[in-house]
This record gives sequence, structure tokens and C-alpha cells, in this order.
Amino acid sequence: MEVLSTILQLKQFIYHKKEQKQTIGFVPTMGYLHKGHESLMQKAKLECDIVILSIFVNPLQFGPNEDYEVYPRDIDRDLQIAKEMNVDVVFSPSVEEMYPSEVYTKVSVSNLTSRLCGASRPGHFDGVSTVVMKLFNIVEPDKAFFGQKDAQQVAVIKQMVSDLNMNVEIVACPIIREEDGLALSSRNVYLNNNEREQAIKLFEALEHSERWIDENVTIEELKRQLYDHIASAPLAKIEYIEILSYPDLQSLEGNVTQLLVNKEIIIALAVKFGKTRLIDNRIYTGNTINVKREPDLGGIVYV
Ligand code: AMP
Repeated sequence: MEVLSTILQLKQFIYHKKEQKQTIGFVPTMGYLHKGHESLMQKAKLECDIVILSIFVNPLQFGPNEDYEVYPRDIDRDLQIAKEMNVDVVFSPSVEEMYPSEVYTKVSVSNLTSRLCGASRPGHFDGVSTVVMKLFNIVEPDKAFFGQKDAQQVAVIKQMVSDLNMNVEIVACPIIREEDGLALSSRNVYLNNNEREQAIKLFEALEHSERWIDENVTIEELKRQLYDHIASAPLAKIEYIEILSYPDLQSLEGNVTQLLVNKEIIIALAVKFGKTRLIDNRIYTGNTINVKREPDLGGIVYV
């Protein structure tokens, strides 16, 4: 496995692989790797000849009062995991390498970024789409692998790729969870024991949503049920509970089962426990006979 930290080194490596007609799979991450990241590497390995993993905590996507400085980092452990996953190249550039001077040009995807995490983290998605665009220009991947855990991010990146006619296929991969259902996240290490115990309420609420939908609820009623369940955790500070169409993220009204006849629906949650902000989601698709979970996207995978 090669570990490269400059753009030039990486471009040279890729130039040779492309000459040999090898396909490139790309997995962008901020490191502190867990089984969620591993699932993306695994999928990339299955679908592409060469797997490139980037590890870069991107300052551009953090707000001034967010956790950029304290974001968990452990490059030695990450390299060990990447090696075990048979990654071909780890690209781990410095901030100066990625942003040698002030950034004048940003990629900004409108509409899809005005709600959910876009509303609670102003500028976040401009930072994400800009760094992903830069990384795509450097790596020129055939396919790039993203987790459905960040469902809004997937929608935004797919929109950017389509709007700008970029030659990369975006592959969305299922959410990987702890045994009790908590979605894996690098930020889970911040949780103390009490917070960790109560964090399970997010998954429980998503699990119960299936039953509530079967009971023929409206969007408002479903939101209320989700709210009441999560708010029963004394440490939960709810940032948003939203039920929108997916991937276009539009507001919905009315009976959920009826809406599912011709729409995909996302239940998206952002809840703080202490200083730790957790997100989770489930995507439903349906038809007139029964409501079912989208197997590829919202499907549950436990580790
Ligand atoms: P991050 O390092 O948090 O920026 O995440 C890098 C990639 O891993 C993103 O595409 C995430 O959506 C994905 N990811 C993070 N957590 C999970 C998870 N629990 N299951 C699947 N993918 C994940």
C-alpha cells in the first residue's frame, strides 16, 4: 500500500494506472476509520481495480464553532485498517497541500442544501462539494463511494456530478450500525456512557417508524411520534426531525402511505447528546400494496 501526501505523487500514480486501463474506485473520508468506512472500501475493491482512500479533515466544511480542532484523528491506526482492507493508496494531504492559498472558487449546490444539515450548518455543504470536486479532479475516479448515513451529502454530490457533467459514478452504500443499532460515526467516541446509552433512541425511533407508517399516520403525526420517542431521552437535544421527499428534499403533507405510492421519503434526524451531534436517517420507498424499506439505501447492516 502506498501512502501519499502530495497531489503530484498521487496524479503520477493514477496516470500510470490509467495507462494500464485500470479502473479507479475512490473513497473520500475524514479518517478515524470505522466499519462504516470499511464497507465503502470493500465495495470499492469489489467494483474497481484500484482503490484510493483519502483521509483529510477538511477545514472548509466546519463552522467557526464546530469541532474541527478536536475532530478525532489517528493516522497510524487508519493506515493499519486501510492496509487490512487492501486499499492501494492512502492519500493524506496537509491542509496547505489542499489549500495553498485563500480559496476564491467554491462549488455551491443550491436548493438541496437549504434544509436539514444545510440549515443547521451554514456553509457546510459548500465546503463538502468544493473539497469533493477538488478530490475528483485530482483522482479522476471511475466510481466514488459514499455512505447513505450522510444521505443529504449523497444527494448534493449526485446533483453536482449531474449538473457539471462530471465523469464519475456515485455509489451510495448502506448505513453500518453497532449491534444495538447506533449508526457508526467517528464522532461516537465523544459520547460518555449515559449519552451512549440514550443515543440508541435515534435508531429506535427509525425502527418504530415502520409500525407507525403501517398505522396510516400523516407526516405530522409521524413527526410527532418520532419527536416524542427521541425526546424521552433526557439528554437528547433535538436539532431537527424532518420527513421529506428524497433525493429532492421537498416538504410533504398528508398520509405517509399514500405519499409513498410515487415518492421516496426520508426520515432525517439530527440530535445532540452533550457536545456530540449525531445524525441518522431511513429512506422508505413504497407501492400501493405494502410499504417497504429500500434495501440498498436504508437497509440495515449490523457489524
Ligand atoms: P466521514 O469520514 O465521516 O466524512 O465519512 C466518510 C464516508 O463514510 C462518507 O461517505 C460517510 O457517509 C461514510 N460513512 C460514515 N459513517 C458511515 C456508516 N455508519 N455507514 C456507512 N457509511 C458511513
